[in-house]
Amino acid sequence: MRVFNFAAGPATLPLEVLQQAQAELPDWRGSGMSVMEISHRSKAFIGVAEEAEADLRELLGVPADYRVLFLQGGATGQFAGIPLNLASAASTVDYVNTGNWSKKAIGEAKQFCAKVNVVADAAARKYCDVPPESTWQRDPTAAYLHYTPNETIGGVEFPFIPDAGNVPLVADFSSSILSRPLDVSKFGLIYAGAQKNIGPAGICLVIVRDYLTGHARPFTPSIWDYKQMGADGSMSNTPPTFGWYIAGLVFKWLKATGGLAAMGERNRAKAAKLYAAIDNSHFYSNPVPTACRSRMNVPFTLVRPELDKTFLSEAKAAGLTNLEGHRSVGGMRASLYNAMPSEGVDALVGFMQEFKQKHG
Ligand code: PMP
Repeated sequence: MRVFNFAAGPATLPLEVLQQAQAELPDWRGSGMSVMEISHRSKAFIGVAEEAEADLRELLGVPADYRVLFLQGGATGQFAGIPLNLASAASTVDYVNTGNWSKKAIGEAKQFCAKVNVVADAAARKYCDVPPESTWQRDPTAAYLHYTPNETIGGVEFPFIPDAGNVPLVADFSSSILSRPLDVSKFGLIYAGAQKNIGPAGICLVIVRDYLTGHARPFTPSIWDYKQMGADGSMSNTPPTFGWYIAGLVFKWLKATGGLAAMGERNRAKAAKLYAAIDNSHFYSNPVPTACRSRMNVPFTLVRPELDKTFLSEAKAAGLTNLEGHRSVGGMRASLYNAMPSEGVDALVGFMQEFKQKHG
């Protein structure tokens, strides 16, 4: 029996994708082997890689002057890869601090850049909102401006794309990529770990404007040198082929289910239903102002925290799993990525109402 898995990542994947992978696992496209067992240099696998890139470009409308890279090392690898490729040791780099993940990106950038300028910091407000752009203390000479459009732990999502002017805008879209349409042309670089809306863990997607590549510092590991990896088709070394293949199936599933506009509408409706259930009760609460609530990660607390464990165990028994909040904040968190069907949200909302009646 499949449960409704509300994990923040690795996260639920579309059942259709899992079933297709299962069906073609032992004998992939008549090769007599699984896709995991063929060479990444084979014509067949290059076809998988090229098709995945073409589908992704179509879904996101990626302009022609951007490279699409499928890298390893996760989003955390890119916390280092970005300053190594886009800034010199003497550069100032601008970062917006809206939560745990931007904080980690800032910490890593400090190893590689002398001046990491935190343009706005939501830490004092417990990372519950997005500081208004008018208050940001930016450096106009910065090598780039980095932000985290969706903070996976705090459940805070930017309701706007920052206006970076001539400074390249860099965004960690790990937990909201492909959740709705996006104007890629506003960005210098977008990156996203795969394990939420793309596929299994092991791949980090990087979409970077051509002119920002080719300036990596001399000691940059070649697997994170964007120019080199672009020239090598993201295969300077052996890539995680199975994850790449699954990502390709997920892109096809997204196209078949109506693309990002339709997905965005489904995600809006799913999140609205859950936030309404939280707001219309005195039993559950969410601290984030309406304008910057995440559609992907919905943290909530119980008015009686001593019931947390009971909530989690009864939810699990009802087939609703992985609802515990991140270990750094506690409480609950329901992640509603693309592959979470609206039936899953309905089941969660129904469970929350019953739980409130029983224990409220
Ligand atoms: N950024 C964000 C927004 C994330 O949610 C995560 C992982 N949850 C990361 C970065 C780190 O990703 P990884 O573990 O793939 O390095």
